[in-house]
Amino acid sequence: MRENISLAPYTWFRVGGVAQVLFMPKDEADLALFLPQVPSNIPVQILGVASNTLVRDGGVPGVIIRLGPSFGKVEKVGDNMLRVGAACLDNALAKKAAKYGLTGMEFYAGIPGTIGGALRMNAGCYGAETKDILIECIALDRRGQRRIIPVSEMGYRYRHCGADADLIFVEALFQGEHASHENILARMDEITKGREQSQPIKEKTGGSTFKNPNPKMSNGRGAWQVIDAAGGRGFKVGGAQMSTKHCNFMINTGDASAKDLEGLGEKIRDMVRDTQDVELEWEIKRIGIEAKHE
Ligand SMILES: Cc1cc2nc3c(=O)[nH]c(=O)nc-3n(C[C@H](O)[C@H](O)[C@H](O)COP(=O)(O)OP(=O)(O)OC[C@H]3O[C@@H](n4cnc5c(N)ncnc54)[C@H](O)[C@@H]3O)c2cc1C
Repeated sequence: MRENISLAPYTWFRVGGVAQVLFMPKDEADLALFLPQVPSNIPVQILGVASNTLVRDGGVPGVIIRLGPSFGKVEKVGDNMLRVGAACLDNALAKKAAKYGLTGMEFYAGIPGTIGGALRMNAGCYGAETKDILIECIALDRRGQRRIIPVSEMGYRYRHCGADADLIFVEALFQGEHASHENILARMDEITKGREQSQPIKEKTGGSTFKNPNPKMSNGRGAWQVIDAAGGRGFKVGGAQMSTKHCNFMINTGDASAKDLEGLGEKIRDMVRDTQDVELEWEIKRIGIEAKHE
């Protein structure tokens, strides 16, 4: 447990202020011991690798939890299931599933987050989502109590999880189907190459900034299409820019502040509302407070 730790190096955007307290539990027992000792008026938030999170410049009051390597294990259970720690990277799970000849998890090859983040965001791509392969997950509540939650009780819909916001997922049980190792690797390769071509994956970014709007409101257009139509491609605020490669991705071009990035997102929402009559909803989670003096 450390105090006043800059969170920027822990985020994909590489921006943001300090965490008042950063706690990295050694294991689940350590986390279960810690949680009930935090007074209920102190906020507690969990971060994965912050590939879908913007930390504001004024920092995050209270406690930020980040799970350590002991939460990153993958273990085969029975014939076709994998028990996975919440700090495991999505990509590492895709590789492990391929090794065991299990299909269904290839889509994780292209998502740079952790399994904890995937459980909370119902992460997905190429027509597959976390909810399709999840059997159950294990979470600790704010009092450190262990809960086993079946997928039917996770309240999943597109990029949304309805499970209590204060739950910390520590483990998940996924189910795949048997398939040939070569076919699985070929599919993962296809996904990774597709993303290299269509997304600015080497930049300081946060993935999709906005959820795809309701198709009835946007005439079937995705978020990037309404942003493009509104003139948002390449649009800049300070050091923040909408990617020219994928215009639903924001980029820190080098010296952006979190304020620049959030300001850019809000400006894009205004432009899309004014010109396309579509209301965009943030997919990126924004945490912390704005800086007092700039
Ligand atoms: C280049 C790029 C491409 C991307 N492509 C995709 C894509 O195709 N599809 C897609 O869905 N997403 C995509 N993303 C977004 C992102 O990778 C996913 O949302 C991912 O699931 C976030 O995981 P994370 O560990 O980074 O979570 P964070 O950003 O750290 O956190 C996201 C949310 O999850 C919560 N959370 C994290 N860990 C836990 C836990 N253990 N228990 C409870 N809550 C937790 C956080 O509190 C926060 O609310 C992309 C991002 C980038 C940068």
